[in-house]
Amino acid sequence: MSGTVEPGNRAGDPVGDGTRAVRAGLPDPVPYEPALPGPVFAAHFHLPGEPTGPYTYGRDENPTWTRLEQAVGELEAPGENVETVAFASGMAAVSAVLFSQLRSGDAVVLPDDGYQALPLVREQLRTYGVEVRTAPTGGDAQLGLLDGARLLWIESPSNPGLDVCDIRRLARAAHAAGALVAVDNTLATPLGQRPLQLGADFSVASDTKGTTGHGDLLLGHVTCLDAELAAAVRRWRKVVGAIPGPMEAWLAHRSLATVQLRADRQCANALALAEALRRRAEAGDPRDVRTVRYPGLPSDPSYPTASRQMRRHGCVVSFTLPDRAHAERFLSALTLVDDATSFGGVRSTAERRGRWGGDAVPEGFIRFSAGIEDTDDLVTDVLRALDKAAG
Ligand SMILES: *Cc1c(COP(=O)(O)O)cnc(C)c1O
Repeated sequence: MSGTVEPGNRAGDPVGDGTRAVRAGLPDPVPYEPALPGPVFAAHFHLPGEPTGPYTYGRDENPTWTRLEQAVGELEAPGENVETVAFASGMAAVSAVLFSQLRSGDAVVLPDDGYQALPLVREQLRTYGVEVRTAPTGGDAQLGLLDGARLLWIESPSNPGLDVCDIRRLARAAHAAGALVAVDNTLATPLGQRPLQLGADFSVASDTKGTTGHGDLLLGHVTCLDAELAAAVRRWRKVVGAIPGPMEAWLAHRSLATVQLRADRQCANALALAEALRRRAEAGDPRDVRTVRYPGLPSDPSYPTASRQMRRHGCVVSFTLPDRAHAERFLSALTLVDDATSFGGVRSTAERRGRWGGDAVPEGFIRFSAGIEDTDDLVTDVLRALDKAAG
């Protein structure tokens, strides 16, 4: 298959990712009906007699969510009987797992280098009497904190540092210690990594990023193999009301049809870019690229583990320029890349991550999200902007 970056993409699957993606979650064909029915806008449904489902009130269930949830589940764990719960954003999905599972007196193990909103969550958990333990993603350091924990939260690759941990190893140890395991799979997307097959109990993601890929909506999901765990997450959605809009859910489902094309091009672009940046870093000019991280770069410390557990290495490349002013000159010299946050979109974006103040990164640290532009155009634009920034 041309454009596929990992030879093992299809291992054990009866169909490839692209074939699965275009049909995921579609209803059986009905003559004179569309292949993907349009969004259902309804606060309530006709409901005579006993108030049983499937569709009763719009905060509980909606047919457009049902189809999206089915589709995402098929990508998360092909051939498995999983349940997916869609949310209004990635943070709604993250919070649903943590706050539906943890009680006062429980201990939770979080990464200390994860998504920038996690410190806020950490504070909130502490006010509820939850003991929060943190360790870095790299070196499987969370292993040392599992004793007596109720839940282990993994983010691999970590955002924005791109460290990777051995998910199978951590999940096995957590289960042996009696803890549940959740993986924030946002960076990898279901096409890049299948946390449930690696032993996780919850696969959680922001679908604002690469899964939907157009930078025009916010959405999240949680997928579980265990129906009771899924029911607890679903109940939390009902209690909090963190529900997706039908239009967003439909747009997301429509976007899934191209997820394999987007992911493959993004990964190919990210690798080409990482290689070009690595050559500059190796040239050793102190006024240029200092360090580069990409889990798909064979020389990267994340590469061995990433290649064992990931099916694609993702669209995010991180690199460090000498200082803040240099990074700002680089960003403003780019012509094909938007200076914007987030990642996983069809248009390349880059930002100086230190501007947010939440991540432990150098002032010249750039988080770059490779889009689906032609590879040569993108690499040429970045190299030209680097030359300009170096003066
Ligand atoms: C963006 C992101 C989130 C939060 O998702 P939203 O859709 O912005 O709420 C959570 N985890 C990771 C790793 C993310 O990148």
